[in-house]
Amino acid sequence: MTDTPTQLFIGGAWVDAADGATMPVDDPATGEILCHVADAGPKDAKLAEEAAVQAQEAWARTAPRVRSEILRRAYEIIIERTDELAHLMTSEMGKPLAEARGEVAYAAEFFRWFSEEAVRIDGGLATLPDGRNRMLLSRRPVGPCLLITPWNFPLAMGTRKIGPAVAAGCTMLLKPAPQTPLSSLALAAILKEAGLPDGVLNVVTTSRAGEVCEPLLRGGRIRKLSFTGSTAVGQLLLAQSAEAVVRTSMELGGNAPFVVFEDADLDKAVDGAMVAKMRNMGEACTAANRFFVHRSVAEEFGRRLAERMGALVVGPGTRDGVDVGPLIDRRGRAKVEELVADAVERGAQVLVGGRTPEGAGCFYPPTVLAGVDPGSRLMDTEIFGPVAAILTFDDEDEVIRRANDTPWGLVGYVFTEGLDRALRVSERLEVGMVGLNTGLVSNPAAPFGGVKQSGLGREGGRVGIDEFLEYQYLAVPVR
Ligand code: NAP
Repeated sequence: MTDTPTQLFIGGAWVDAADGATMPVDDPATGEILCHVADAGPKDAKLAEEAAVQAQEAWARTAPRVRSEILRRAYEIIIERTDELAHLMTSEMGKPLAEARGEVAYAAEFFRWFSEEAVRIDGGLATLPDGRNRMLLSRRPVGPCLLITPWNFPLAMGTRKIGPAVAAGCTMLLKPAPQTPLSSLALAAILKEAGLPDGVLNVVTTSRAGEVCEPLLRGGRIRKLSFTGSTAVGQLLLAQSAEAVVRTSMELGGNAPFVVFEDADLDKAVDGAMVAKMRNMGEACTAANRFFVHRSVAEEFGRRLAERMGALVVGPGTRDGVDVGPLIDRRGRAKVEELVADAVERGAQVLVGGRTPEGAGCFYPPTVLAGVDPGSRLMDTEIFGPVAAILTFDDEDEVIRRANDTPWGLVGYVFTEGLDRALRVSERLEVGMVGLNTGLVSNPAAPFGGVKQSGLGREGGRVGIDEFLEYQYLAVPVR
């Protein structure tokens, strides 16, 4: 997009970093620099915080209908500009254009959903048990928020936080990932065009995340942190949030089990596996990381999955007919290579893929490994790449125990044609979400989130707005 902003967005104005610093944004398909964007330091972050704090009171008093209609307008603009936004996303992140268009629709839907929720914030009046006192309950915005997003879904991770924050009446400072700042800057321009008042949303792009965010979290003016990213960074930010008792929502890493029982419909299981593994080239927190397949169907499942994975076309996301784009950067690809090498060293067979192609760009082929040793590193590491690791199991209790044997608990996938088993196994999985005979759970109308070290709180659904609201209770004696 030729007119995509590249400056910081503070108090409704586009500005350079105070020290004039900029940082490059790379195209992962070529390794070339696309452009430079402003690289904020702590001073810029303070200005953005000040803008959010100043805007908070008036924004909290703005009529819910007004907040709702701004989100609705922004939803419509995003949909109108789907192609432009998809190209921008593909250029900075790498995913194929068809997937980028899908993400634009998914991202926009958070604005439509929360435009509908903005006018449904409820309260209550109750007579207390003594029959004399009344309880008047109202819900108020939590206050200025810090929103931190990862690079894998550059637009949707932003709208999933901005949507409910705007709906609730919070102001905010968004810090996108340095690999993919352009989608967030384009989003800020759209929200301004949709009528969002100055200072409600501020966007600070930076390569100095720690220096920029820590003072905000410890400073006491930011009242809420909503973070999506790795568990390790989430843990650090939780510790930093403790000092000023900042409320937190944490969408962290995953290690999803994908369980195929002997009574599964293998067509559905292979279709589900393609989505659960290959959405976003495997660079998703929801990506199936460990395939547990019943011994009696493992060979057949592996063969069919390898056939489908091997038929995918790898290349630059902007090229027609490409199914799999590059990984985000060389570091991400090196991690995938190491995990595959470790699994192969421990005896895994490579059914398809497994070899890094020559040339520019961070490409890695769709890969299926069978007979993976449970001690392999990819069993307790997010692969974040197009690699399906298959293990076998013999009975239900055993597979549930192994599926739960991880500190993470974001999502699990279960394939069986038996209703009893489907419900029984889903209930016993320690995860926030289950895909039953499907490889896709993400939906703006559903509460997204995990248990254990996959996070705290939920995004989307009816409860998504709760993360940005506080209760206030008024005690009213009636004589
Ligand atoms: P990451 O390294 O944790 O980074 C996430 C964001 O946090 C980036 O904007 C990053 O900026 C920032 N960050 C890092 N250190 C920070 C610090 N000290 N203070 C403030 N901000 C800091 O994760 P990623 O590699 O971008 O994304 C992949 C991870 O996100 C995976 O673990 C994936 O599972 C998870 N994820 C979870 C969900 C979910 O909904 N549960 C969704 C998508 C992704 P810098 O890069 O500049 O450090």
